[in-house]
Amino acid sequence: MSSFKNTFEQYDWDETLSDIFSKTETDVTHALGKSKRDLEDFKALISPAAKPFLEQMAQMSSYVTKNRFGNTIQMYAPMYLSNECQNICTYCGFSMTNKIPRRTLTDDEILKEVGFLKSKGYDHILLVTGEANRTVGVDYINNAIRLIQSRFANITIEIQPLNQEEYEVLIESGLYAVLVYQETYHKEEYKKHHPKGRKSNFDYRLETPDRLGRAGIHKIGLGALFGLEDWRADSFFTALHLSYLQKTYWKTKYSISFPRLRPYSGGLEPKVEMTDSDLVQLICAFRLFDEDVELSMSTRESEVFRENIVNLGITSISAESKTNPGGYAVAPQSLEQFEISDERSTEDVVQMLKNRGLEVVWKDWAYNWQ
Ligand code: SF4
Repeated sequence: MSSFKNTFEQYDWDETLSDIFSKTETDVTHALGKSKRDLEDFKALISPAAKPFLEQMAQMSSYVTKNRFGNTIQMYAPMYLSNECQNICTYCGFSMTNKIPRRTLTDDEILKEVGFLKSKGYDHILLVTGEANRTVGVDYINNAIRLIQSRFANITIEIQPLNQEEYEVLIESGLYAVLVYQETYHKEEYKKHHPKGRKSNFDYRLETPDRLGRAGIHKIGLGALFGLEDWRADSFFTALHLSYLQKTYWKTKYSISFPRLRPYSGGLEPKVEMTDSDLVQLICAFRLFDEDVELSMSTRESEVFRENIVNLGITSISAESKTNPGGYAVAPQSLEQFEISDERSTEDVVQMLKNRGLEVVWKDWAYNWQ
């Protein structure tokens, strides 16, 4: 069965990187002048040669987003169900060898957390777990989805990769979207950061969106964890992955996230720095590359950064997030997966968005357009 792996293997990391770095201002001008941009244009827009064009890119990106999505932004909330994990990931506080108290929410606890999020107005929830097949396998997730599906318009998950049949079961129960980040598309570097557990299988993770597409999921979220490897090359491979999926599973919608490494207890320092200016450039490049793709921004980023970026291409945003299971109402003091940066309340973020001329919508885009 063909998959993204076949496409991916036709590319070489070093050649891709040197290609991006060899783009010139002429390539950037050419890309900006087009109405439909391809992957070569995307390389130009993320290249160092595009830096002097950042202001122009931001204006174009803002215009395109306003045209496509209106003056609106969608809000969602993550809910961590468990911090149990059988993987070792060098950048994560839930990594198996970290000696932290482990907790998996019961049905009553899940409903308590849901009560808190509903009181804040959320209608799109992102369920998150570590990767522990015995405790938070497909049966646990299926039960959680069934338990809360009448309370939310959209349920998205960010959990261990599953097989096609398992996704089909969850979709039947009310699952709407799945986020599965490759972390890095650099195969050797990936191995270093995922030395143990099922996540160490690079190809299985790489082919997860294919299994989701075949299962008929409504939406797939892609992304790389910036800091593990060169952000430009990882972003190119994310764009390549997106293009492949859009052509292959054209009924499915797609979103891109931009997580940068955040501190956590015993944490990893980024190998490659991605500055604020780099991240703005990337967000604008994605918007100009694909006018329809949803671009998401979490509370990993600071208050100031988020305020500045919400009008430039982002279409969904979280607020007041807790990255520990039970963090909203059950066990606020337990250990987080990573420290969030923007700690403002939902109400404050909503007000900030209104002040910036944006109307908040609580259901996912596809739902609003049905
Ligand atoms: S990133 Fe996910 S899989 Fe890796 S240790 Fe953290 S929770 Fe587990």
